[in-house]
Amino acid sequence: MSRYALVTGGSRGIGRAVCVELARRGYPVVINYNSNTAAAEQTAALIAAEGGTSELLPFDVADAKAVEAALEKWQEKHPDDYIAVLINNAGIRHDQLLVFMQDGEWESVLNTTLGGFFHVTRRLLKDMMTSRWGRIVNMASLSGVKGLPGQANYSAAKAALIGAMKALAQEVAPRGITVNAIAPGFISTDMTKDLDEKELKKMIPVGRFGRPEEVAALVGFLVSEDAAYITGQTISVNGGLYT
Ligand code: NAP
Repeated sequence: MSRYALVTGGSRGIGRAVCVELARRGYPVVINYNSNTAAAEQTAALIAAEGGTSELLPFDVADAKAVEAALEKWQEKHPDDYIAVLINNAGIRHDQLLVFMQDGEWESVLNTTLGGFFHVTRRLLKDMMTSRWGRIVNMASLSGVKGLPGQANYSAAKAALIGAMKALAQEVAPRGITVNAIAPGFISTDMTKDLDEKELKKMIPVGRFGRPEEVAALVGFLVSEDAAYITGQTISVNGGLYT
């Protein structure tokens, strides 16, 4: 039985760097994404260049039925394997002051981050439990720890993700499964390209935005055997931006 790693939102940004890191650690990587096939293929090419293997598995993490159907199909193709490492990374922002926030802005952000965590994790947990080994890492945010104005939807989704992570960590610890969260600060990706980096970096003690690889390095450690005693934690990667 081979252990696979699944990264949601693996086509771009932090997810792409995480895919490459897990491939370097020897995992065959399942690259999930929503719609950007060209970007997902670039992630696959980076993995291949490192001598790793990967496959694309597009689905919308917010859509419970789509998640179920895609993972069912994957399992049929891989009857003897299981997804032992799950990185819940897919996320979106729709920033707006709460007083102006539309239903769709609230719901889409909650459904992607929190719904996505629920749909994908529930489906993959059984195999991790019967195999008595698993690693789940959830991409939270500084926004979910501290709260950021203009992001009530995003802060709520990420804070809820941290709460769910803490509960699940206690449920599955006896089965050799660890569940943690990472709270990145400002990382240079498509998600942050509209922000005023010159202004914002003045607040960051390290004096710059982070790189996706700097988040991926922590994911690599958390999924390793060395991190078997770390669970239920939220670890910040934020250049010293005090939370
Ligand atoms: P990004 O560059 O915008 O990439 C987002 C990724 O998520 C893409 O691969 C996208 O797929 C995928 N995705 C979005 N909605 C999806 C859905 N419904 N189903 C499946 N996949 C979906 O974002 P990023 O900056 O790398 O952020 C990755 C994670 O880190 C997010 O959870 C984000 O909230 C969190 N985070 C980021 C920062 C930061 O500063 N960048 C800070 C804190 C936390 P497509 O390519 O198909 O659209």
